[in-house]
Amino acid sequence: MNKLFLAGKWTDGAEVQPVLSPFDGHTVAEVHRAGPEHYRQAVDAAVEAARELRSLPAHRIAAALETMGAFLAEHAEEATRILAGEAGKPIKSGQVEVQRSLHIVEDGVEECKRLGGESLPLDRRPWGEGRFALVERFPRGVMAGITPFNFPLHLVAHKIVPAVASRNAIVIKPASQTPLSALMWGRAFAETDLPPGTLSILPGSPQAATALVEDTRVGGLSFTGSPEVGWELKARAARKHVALELGGNAAAIVHSDAELDAAAQALTLGAFATAGQSCISTQRVYLHQDIYDNFTHRFVAAAERLIVGDPMDPDTDVGPVISQFDAQRIEDWIGEAKSQGAQVLTGDRRQGNLHWPTVLTDTRPDMKVNCREVFGPVVTLAPYEDFDTALELVNDSEYGLQAGVFTRDVGLIHQAYSTLEVGGVMINAAPTWRIDHMPYGGVKSSGEGREGVRYAMQAMTEPRLLVINLPE
Ligand code: NAP
Repeated sequence: MNKLFLAGKWTDGAEVQPVLSPFDGHTVAEVHRAGPEHYRQAVDAAVEAARELRSLPAHRIAAALETMGAFLAEHAEEATRILAGEAGKPIKSGQVEVQRSLHIVEDGVEECKRLGGESLPLDRRPWGEGRFALVERFPRGVMAGITPFNFPLHLVAHKIVPAVASRNAIVIKPASQTPLSALMWGRAFAETDLPPGTLSILPGSPQAATALVEDTRVGGLSFTGSPEVGWELKARAARKHVALELGGNAAAIVHSDAELDAAAQALTLGAFATAGQSCISTQRVYLHQDIYDNFTHRFVAAAERLIVGDPMDPDTDVGPVISQFDAQRIEDWIGEAKSQGAQVLTGDRRQGNLHWPTVLTDTRPDMKVNCREVFGPVVTLAPYEDFDTALELVNDSEYGLQAGVFTRDVGLIHQAYSTLEVGGVMINAAPTWRIDHMPYGGVKSSGEGREGVRYAMQAMTEPRLLVINLPE
């Protein structure tokens, strides 16, 4: 096993590499890696499959997706252990990721039956009289998906499911650190009766995967990952549709009327789950000055209750960050903030790739822990006097994925909704809150387009117009 999943067949790659545990460095598995020829072969097969997929009835697509879901449900425990092994994701968090992946499949089963269109009245102009128009959506044909390490099962599902539900074939390049979770979808797909070229999953280097970005037969590229890579890919893939789900430095506002225990609980999870390695991890928290001390006390206490350690231990809340490079980078950014006057309320402790949940105050907006994406278990707290200032602080960012606002005041809720420059505003919830059928994505450097099966299906299809000049 752990060969390439190339157009429905388990195939030898160009080389074999070990996948190492981010927790203790042991070899989790050996995995075949694709060369450029494998990506080209996958695109060839996808072009062929796309011709067949175009006319497949929705009930066959739905049945195939149900089969994939059933496979994952049956192998949920194995998937959770793979996530712990290759991504260092604690068992508790891995179980949630598997459940959410199943929800994405369920959404696909529903949405593939609803991909309809509309009739368009043409008689608003005299020369449109006697004509009839339809607008339906047609698949782009071949999609490519490039995915990151942090939700390696779930984010691959966010590519495969809408692609298949809208009758596209898709070639996936998963993150090099986490190919095993992605390959599980190959095993699930192998149980279906869809054309073999519908799905390829090819672990490999960015250089080898050039065809996914530059081959003009690939109609759309759906990328999830860092802003640096995402925007560069969009420039290179100028002639294809590109959806970008990128990073951020998500913020929350806790106003004076907020329910503090609930806010502290939600934001603790939002900041430290997945060791802060989520694109909408809570990184900046702005607190009304009247509740600053009360909230801070609760938040620090909740952070200190989290269990940090081995991801395979079912009690662990916070596992390792993905690499030594990132563990060191996070430590350096905290160090830089401290040297410029920041105070540490808890955390700032590291052992290997484990970082204890860290809470900082007295930071400045231009410190890296605020203005860059930390992608680690670090959060900054800062007081504000009036709500307008808090909104400005949230917007003072090159990113804009989601924001959280804790208040009961409907006027402030509306003001936040209309002012915040983000893809989604969560009221009385952390910016990290997500259900997978929501339209999810960002503005500014955080990306372009929205994910969530129905929204991704729009991006993976194009409208086509039919005008019938009715005979007299
Ligand atoms: P990354 O370094 O950008 O890598 C993401 C994927 O892109 C990996 O498969 C990587 O392959 C590939 N890649 C890197 N350079 C490439 C290139 N020049 N051409 C083609 N592919 C290339 O991101 P990451 O470190 O894995 O993930 C963390 C980032 O993802 C964070 O910024 C996070 O916020 C973001 N993210 C966003 C969302 C969202 O929905 N908005 C969700 C999750 C994560 P290799 O692994 O082989 O290098």
